[in-house]
Amino acid sequence: MKNTKELYEYYYSLLSGVDERINKLYSKEKEEHFHRRLEENGFSRRDFLKWASFMTAAMMLPPVFESRIAKAAAIKERTPVIWLHLAECTGCTESFLRTRAPDIATLIFDEISLTYHDTLMMASGKRVEEHLEKAIERYSGRYICVIEGAIPTKDGGIYLRVGPDGETGYHRAKRVTEHAKYVLAFGTCASFGGVQAAHPNPTGAKGVRKALGIEVVNVPGCPPNSVNMVGTMLHILLFDRTPPTDLLYRPLWAYGSRIHDYCERRAHFDAGEFVEEWGDEGAKKGWCLYKMGCKGPLTYNDCSRYRFNQGINWPVGAGHGCIGCSEPGFWDTMAPFEEPNDKAGIRIPGGKGVEATADEIGTFVAGATAAAIAIHATGSIIRGSTGKSSKKEKE
Ligand code: SF4
Ligand code: SF4
Repeated sequence: MKNTKELYEYYYSLLSGVDERINKLYSKEKEEHFHRRLEENGFSRRDFLKWASFMTAAMMLPPVFESRIAKAAAIKERTPVIWLHLAECTGCTESFLRTRAPDIATLIFDEISLTYHDTLMMASGKRVEEHLEKAIERYSGRYICVIEGAIPTKDGGIYLRVGPDGETGYHRAKRVTEHAKYVLAFGTCASFGGVQAAHPNPTGAKGVRKALGIEVVNVPGCPPNSVNMVGTMLHILLFDRTPPTDLLYRPLWAYGSRIHDYCERRAHFDAGEFVEEWGDEGAKKGWCLYKMGCKGPLTYNDCSRYRFNQGINWPVGAGHGCIGCSEPGFWDTMAPFEEPNDKAGIRIPGGKGVEATADEIGTFVAGATAAAIAIHATGSIIRGSTGKSSKKEKE
């Protein structure tokens, strides 16, 4: 799939399967319950329909899916989700759940899923272990396993132990993912190792895919946008398959374009208007942050489109450049964060004229990031989605 037309054709071919699935699982009672919850949280039906329309567009689905997205919230059985926390700071969960007030995405997520979540459960110790065991047994082959955090692999994984029996994070992740239907890596640590895997990586930390050798959909970001996570979950719920991804296994609809492509400061980049020093006139006028180290031209994510905290703001909007947090190895390849990356090969406009070469960044050589950029830049995408259960990769 190389363009929107092909993507639309792909989704149209799945339409009847989606209808069959929704009709089988739909419940009027559940729908009414969900709308009562929306009202209690200050959202009208109209707000919800607007949200469904927004998600349809964000996920690059044809408009005919709007009503199906809205109906997905009224599915009578929760989609079981087992959410594990490994080597991480819990910032991804915080970002997802600790917004100003529960937004529609959070409510949907709460309604359609979450069977087990290390951070949110009241219980602890042995009771939690029993709950986890029961969830794995009861939903075996049907649940989605979400992993937040990297997996330390050195010395048998001893640098991360979890739970009352001191199980290694590696063993726990292996045990839970073995019975999962889909595995999602939430955040850059789970996707690519994150800060734990930064040089010299003393614990041998890796992303889930690399550590376990299984199929995983990566939803990177430090933290990722809740839109990216809810959209990926909705995709699985509607289609019973993962979304098409790029070669870094990131959903294309969320990670298919650069921060730079939709940045509100882009006109200043094209006009050669740059912040030269923190607090200068350019900073006050909202000019481009490239010279202050912004990695937006090298970073694939949708922050510039959807922002954070219910769309209130995002890092570049607040005055700091993007640090490239959704790219693999960004702590090593994107630093120093407040200086332009001299290997990126980006010629900046000199005060007049439009951008000439920021799109020629296939020459940037910095490990996997470079490969990803080159791949995107040539437009030769993409991995198809999969409806198969998690299984060993043949890489
Ligand atoms: S370099 Fe950064 S601040 Fe400038 S337009 Fe690109 S993304 Fe925006
Ligand atoms: S703007 Fe850049 S650094 Fe900030 S969250 Fe988005 S991808 Fe990460």
